[in-house]
Amino acid sequence: MKTILVTGGAGFIGSNFIRYIINKYDDYRIINLDELTYAGNLDNLMDIEDNPNYVFVRGDISNIDTLNRIMEKGVDYIINFAAESHVDRSIDSSNAFIKTNVMGTQVLLDASKKYKIKKYIQISTDEVYGSLGETGYFTEKTPISPNNPYSASKASADMLVRAYYETYKLPINITRCSNNYGAYQYPEKLIPLMISRAYDNQPLPVYGNGLNIRDWIHVEDHCAAIDKVLHLGKIGEVYNIGANNERNNIFIVKKILDCLDKDESLIEFVDDRLGHDIRYAIDATKIREELGWRPRYEFEEGIEETIKWYVDNQEWWRKIIK
Ligand code: NAD
Repeated sequence: MKTILVTGGAGFIGSNFIRYIINKYDDYRIINLDELTYAGNLDNLMDIEDNPNYVFVRGDISNIDTLNRIMEKGVDYIINFAAESHVDRSIDSSNAFIKTNVMGTQVLLDASKKYKIKKYIQISTDEVYGSLGETGYFTEKTPISPNNPYSASKASADMLVRAYYETYKLPINITRCSNNYGAYQYPEKLIPLMISRAYDNQPLPVYGNGLNIRDWIHVEDHCAAIDKVLHLGKIGEVYNIGANNERNNIFIVKKILDCLDKDESLIEFVDDRLGHDIRYAIDATKIREELGWRPRYEFEEGIEETIKWYVDNQEWWRKIIK
């Protein structure tokens, strides 16, 4: 049995990842360390909470004592999903972003070093690269150039992870994924926000002209890519993850309205987000060619399935937005 410490496992991607690993392997024990901030939700894991290979610990990744207590029991891998993850909240106030995303990562890195783990994986984002113009793609060699406090905190964490590899030869990988969609995403993020509001005939706030482009990937494809990096990733390497699904925000909003059979008059253009990046697009050639990863979901199929999930699981999101 090998043990993975998954941090932030009660959030959107972390909970999908835990489910993916528990369903795929029976020789992994998962410890889920999550502080249960506003974004953490144990309902995301109700179907596996009694699985003998899964244990939940409520705690803060930046608390050294908590980490020591967990690590002493024997941990082989750490995969760090825990983060403050919402750009708008970071623009309002960035304190929590620095504490969790930067200082929390540093505590996890020190624990990884002290207890000589087999691998530490930092779950990062394409946002650390900044913004693209109309052409080009982010590769792993694109300079880090974050434009908002959230992406700056994630970029800072990436720099620390890199430094622990260069300085201490800590066995690490960094993954930088594009925008995820799928089940259990907190309904402040674009897709679940628009679905929940459209369903209730509420106005749909769209930033600026709605033409900002994001590169969308189904969360299960992201989880499969992390699985590849865990098992095959070359120590010290960064892997970009993306599925070549560039869509502008207004396209996404109209698609949701169309699927829910709602009128476009619900769309309400609002002042643009400060420092709003124009376009993200990932070049995932490295993970495709070196680790043999391929996304499974076609965007149209994935987004329609996701919209249906939110329609079928209203109890899940209504409990949050009430
Ligand atoms: P999320 O906000 O849904 O979940 C974050 C989780 O971390 C929550 O369960 C929260 O309770 C927990 N957490 C926060 N602070 C903590 C702390 N100090 N100690 C322990 N737990 C803490 O986020 P998400 O969308 O699932 O993103 C997960 C990771 O993936 C983040 O690191 C994010 O930067 C990265 N990422 C997200 C996307 C995306 O599209 N959502 C894309 C690329 C990368």
